[in-house]
Amino acid sequence: MIINSIQAAIGHTPLLRFTHHQFEEIPEGSAIYAKLEYLNPGGSIKDRLGVYLIEEGFKQGRIKEGTTIIEPTAGNTGIGVALAALEAGLPTIFVVPEKFSLEKQALMRALGAEIVHTPIAEGISGAIEEAKRLHEELADSYLPLQFENPANPEAYYRSLAPELVEDLGEGITSFVAGIGSGGTFSGVARYLLERNSAIRLIGVEPEGSILNGGDSHGHEIEGIGVEFIPTFLNELPISCFATISDDEGFAMTRKLAKEHGILIGSSSGAAMVGALAEVASLPAGSQVVTIFPDAGDRYLSKEIYLREAY
Ligand code: PMP
Repeated sequence: MIINSIQAAIGHTPLLRFTHHQFEEIPEGSAIYAKLEYLNPGGSIKDRLGVYLIEEGFKQGRIKEGTTIIEPTAGNTGIGVALAALEAGLPTIFVVPEKFSLEKQALMRALGAEIVHTPIAEGISGAIEEAKRLHEELADSYLPLQFENPANPEAYYRSLAPELVEDLGEGITSFVAGIGSGGTFSGVARYLLERNSAIRLIGVEPEGSILNGGDSHGHEIEGIGVEFIPTFLNELPISCFATISDDEGFAMTRKLAKEHGILIGSSSGAAMVGALAEVASLPAGSQVVTIFPDAGDRYLSKEIYLREAY
């Protein structure tokens, strides 16, 4: 396959099938399919969003030559936006809460971005406020704001979801995925629902996120978990939320590396825990789809593969 830019390698990621042979919790005849989004060139699912946000920004006249892109991000959206902005020759500034992995910040910088930190205690809400302030201050700037911009779910409705249906047809029993901004979950869910209104939708969150009614507190699983209910989830017929502890998520992340050679981040481990519980609760012959959003090597400084629990 010959391509003319690295951005052309975004999308069309493989779908990895797990059966009873790999995980005994999966009933014989059922399967979990994991979309390997960590194989995108920027190492995450957010490469798809970066390209779409920049394209839409140009179409809507919000981006011109030289416009600075400002965005609050835990890191992966920053890397995706930086990749897309690089191709369009646009400068980028990302507002990142201090706790997030150093590797993601190093990657954003490697792609030419400037990083502004906000205190851990202010969470992603603090980063959003600071990004809005910078946007006011800098005349020729564009703030795509993934947490509110309908282009976020739309990116996944248009690119990732059709790839699932291309590979699996319309017989998907359940869709299980982590929720950060909620863009991936809602965009894919809407596309799948239009083809099968009986599909089960399971949102995955870490303990410390509020979707199951728990108190908001810190957690180590990165990229998923919310302090407020994303508007993108409104009106979706969500079957339930699976709340996964850091220990369960990291243990699964390490198991997938050590036993299956899959080097993914902790939100993927959490998604797999949710997908396994779902498939085990369904009759034989079910097809459960989940997403592995990013790569594990961006969490080595956080000792992702060294923890005690596994
Ligand atoms: N996993 C990781 C590692 C992420 O960076 C993100 C994006 N924050 C997600 C999952 C969740 O994606 P979304 O924002 O589309 O809900």
